[in-house]
Amino acid sequence: MNATTGVMSLYTLRGISSRLRAYFLHLIWPSSCEVCGRIGESLCESCRQERIRREAESDKARGFYRIFTSDIITREFDNVTVYSALYYHDIHVKTVIHKFKEEGRRDMGHPLGVCMARAFGETEADYIIPAPLRMNSERMYNQTSELAKGMCDYWGVELLDVSERTRERPHQMRLGASDRRNNIAPDDFKFMRDIRGLRVALVDDVCTTGYTLMAFAEACRLAGAKVICAYTLSSTNR
Ligand SMILES: [Zn+2]
Repeated sequence: MNATTGVMSLYTLRGISSRLRAYFLHLIWPSSCEVCGRIGESLCESCRQERIRREAESDKARGFYRIFTSDIITREFDNVTVYSALYYHDIHVKTVIHKFKEEGRRDMGHPLGVCMARAFGETEADYIIPAPLRMNSERMYNQTSELAKGMCDYWGVELLDVSERTRERPHQMRLGASDRRNNIAPDDFKFMRDIRGLRVALVDDVCTTGYTLMAFAEACRLAGAKVICAYTLSSTNR
């Protein structure tokens, strides 16, 4: 047996065993691909690849890809490292973020998330947890969840949209620098499922002072998760 046949048979074996595993998982916990109906996964690998390819084309058409580079902003906080794909004050970035956030362009969330994941390269996390909306937010949906969906589809990791806020707080942006730290605490977050032992990455739309992500990271740790890092679309500092 030469090396090529060896690799081939190993590859085939792996293919069969993962399909068998998917089949048995389906018996216990029925699920099928939301696109093609193939059993075992909520989105099968080929449909996931096809979705990413289509997203890449549509984000080109929308011009997103031009604002993303491999220059990632890295900020170290007390208990979490935050990676940001874009510099918030860049004029082109501001235009895109304004469209996404202020003009309610929900459809931009997923492709922006795909662009983020591609810019970050790869992740050590197995799960992505988006930061929840503020309780008294005037927004109709959580934009961060939309970003997280795009990142999960690109990386093939699982979305855990399981966190909620526990109390109303004024918007961080409306407070002075000294009040912001006291405006958020780990017990501002609760989790709708058990996240003990999971390797998670946090996602938020913007990193300003880092206080929200620090409190959220602490909340995840107190709930038993291993926090790998946090990702944000943009950062106000670099
Ligand atoms: Zn499929």
